[in-house]
Amino acid sequence: MDLYKEIGRKLITTVVGSYPVDSLNYEDALTRAVTNQIDAGIGIISDGQIRANLIDLFVQDIEGIELRGNSLKPRIVGDLAYKYPSTIDDFLKAKKLSEGKCKLAGIITGPTTISYSIDIAPKFSLTKYNSRNYLIGELADILHENAKELERAGADLIQIDEPCFSLLQKGADQKVKFVDRVLEGIKVPTKLHVCGNISKIYKSLLNLENANILDHEFSGNHNNLNTYSEEDLISNEKIIGFGCVNTMRETIESIEDIENFIYKGIEHFGKNIIVDPDCGMRLLPYEIALGKLKNMVLAAKRVEEKLY
Ligand SMILES: [Zn+2]
Repeated sequence: MDLYKEIGRKLITTVVGSYPVDSLNYEDALTRAVTNQIDAGIGIISDGQIRANLIDLFVQDIEGIELRGNSLKPRIVGDLAYKYPSTIDDFLKAKKLSEGKCKLAGIITGPTTISYSIDIAPKFSLTKYNSRNYLIGELADILHENAKELERAGADLIQIDEPCFSLLQKGADQKVKFVDRVLEGIKVPTKLHVCGNISKIYKSLLNLENANILDHEFSGNHNNLNTYSEEDLISNEKIIGFGCVNTMRETIESIEDIENFIYKGIEHFGKNIIVDPDCGMRLLPYEIALGKLKNMVLAAKRVEEKLY
């Protein structure tokens, strides 16, 4: 059934993306991320983003950027060009493991966040890439190729992560447009994840044409509840991704607490929401991450039984 038709009739559960790796090797970490999410009963899972952090994961496969390690930022050393859809191999492995058991999201770090996380090598510092918006535009075109590949490979949803949006001081409307460029022509449901305090950016996000689900942290940031109105969301055809467990805290919220918090979300935003954790779970111990997902799914089931 079409995901958008299910929203409002069911309370769909999903994740933001990353999952703990600990000391596991790549194969084992990916398998555990996928099977844990399935065991918890998540409706739309991720591949766990276990290969690298959310920047390296993408820039390692862009022509013209070199990774430097030692916690130095990757840097631009030549003309940027699309090379390879970075996460496709992880996505396909996750798809094989999860086929028929749940839906699977394809996740891409957004061009603005990537632009602030890379440097320009000194000899290229006087190039076109010195213009922030030019650089973001080039990255958006490259990431658009990633999005199309993930859709072709069977992604049930494409998500763009722009954690830096909550820190933007100016030019938000323009930056938001680059998200539309990444998602241009994508037919499957689309989601934009922005964590942090969204009070300065949320109005700009309502103008997005190609991203329909606006996903934010609410559990760790109650101020975010006082942003969109239900009317805002309906008139702009937007759905809230409701972060309802705190990914910064190493304790597992009770089912009751999560259930009550979801009711709070519905009070503010209406029933057209999906639920997920506040942010990625990479830094949590895996038992905690799994416990949070399990309780979130059970809480969502209770809310669904009562209200949907
Ligand atoms: Zn986040």
